[in-house]
Amino acid sequence: MSRPPAKVGDPVSAVDTPALIVDLAAMERNMEKMASFAKRANVRMRPHAKTHKCAMVARRQLALGAVGVCCQKVSEAEAMVEAGVTDVLVSNEIVGEIKVARLAALAKQATISVLADHPDMVAAYSAATQRFGSKLSVLVELHSGGIRAGVHSAEAALDLARLIDKAPGLRFGGLQAYRGHAQHIRPFDERRQAAEDWCARVAEARDLLEKNGLPCESVTGAGTGTCEFEAVSGVYNEIQVGSYAFMDVEYGLNRDAGDDLVSDFENSLFIVTTVMSSNVPEFAVVDAGIKAANLDKEMPRVWKRPGLTFVGAADEHGAIEISPEAGPVMLGERLWLVPGHVDPTIGLYDWMVGFRDGVVETVWSVSARGALA
Ligand SMILES: *Cc1c(COP(=O)(O)O)cnc(C)c1O
Repeated sequence: MSRPPAKVGDPVSAVDTPALIVDLAAMERNMEKMASFAKRANVRMRPHAKTHKCAMVARRQLALGAVGVCCQKVSEAEAMVEAGVTDVLVSNEIVGEIKVARLAALAKQATISVLADHPDMVAAYSAATQRFGSKLSVLVELHSGGIRAGVHSAEAALDLARLIDKAPGLRFGGLQAYRGHAQHIRPFDERRQAAEDWCARVAEARDLLEKNGLPCESVTGAGTGTCEFEAVSGVYNEIQVGSYAFMDVEYGLNRDAGDDLVSDFENSLFIVTTVMSSNVPEFAVVDAGIKAANLDKEMPRVWKRPGLTFVGAADEHGAIEISPEAGPVMLGERLWLVPGHVDPTIGLYDWMVGFRDGVVETVWSVSARGALA
């Protein structure tokens, strides 16, 4: 693990770069806003820990009433349980003997749920729980389109739920229904329509299960982009929002009901960088490239420095285009970047530095970093 880029009490201006810095006040406002929204909508909060991979952030979400967290990987779940999280939904299908064994072993230490979309998974989960003397709650995932797993019909969900219900060591936990590709539909009405169409399909599956004696304890899903629709749909009783705590460029491009850029949640996480080369008026280089900023969707945005645009990156270099109104960019100047896509960007770092009023208050280990298995 790398050396921490700062210590408590340092000014933010002394954090070594590139580093992730978190505006704690903004993050707390985001968390409180989402927690009170969930409370008003009467749905449980189970934030997705894949966003932050950080037990200390998870603890704050739990302190605000979250019932547990989601993880995407068994190793991520192990890191959360090790840090004291007692209820984890692995919102993914787990395939492979080693992983399934670790999952079943983890279920001896905490309440663990997992997804299935095939009878073979049910058999493997059941066998592993019997080997370890543990219990797993298993939810059926509904395929929502996009690059996602899941069963493709309500009837298939029913068949699988019946198997889970009968399998030793397993409990049927309900439906997983996260529609990832709807999160970033920009126009508000189209995003709402996509969420509402999806809710109708989820309701159909839920009702079919219920009619057949398999009521869903959880109907869970929803991300930052669509939770306002799922939470009030009457279909979901749990939301799995992740990005809301930090936000990113990608989410910032969504439109609200008035067709303005969304503003419910604030940017609270930044990549702080240093200008490492500036020899011509129109171009400079910062010390954050592809290994410090994920570029799969949007480029990072330069924060509060009008006229500067992050236009491209090499492994360890980030290119900044300078328009005349920006004024000179000085060697050694520090630029803050809003990450293009927050989850994979955090996954690049060992540490997140939390600050308040310009002073470092905390340095968090990204405890589930590298937890890809
Ligand atoms: C990423 C993810 C989320 C969180 O979504 P955001 O859009 O980041 O709020 C929730 N559920 C699942 C299954 C996910 O993969």
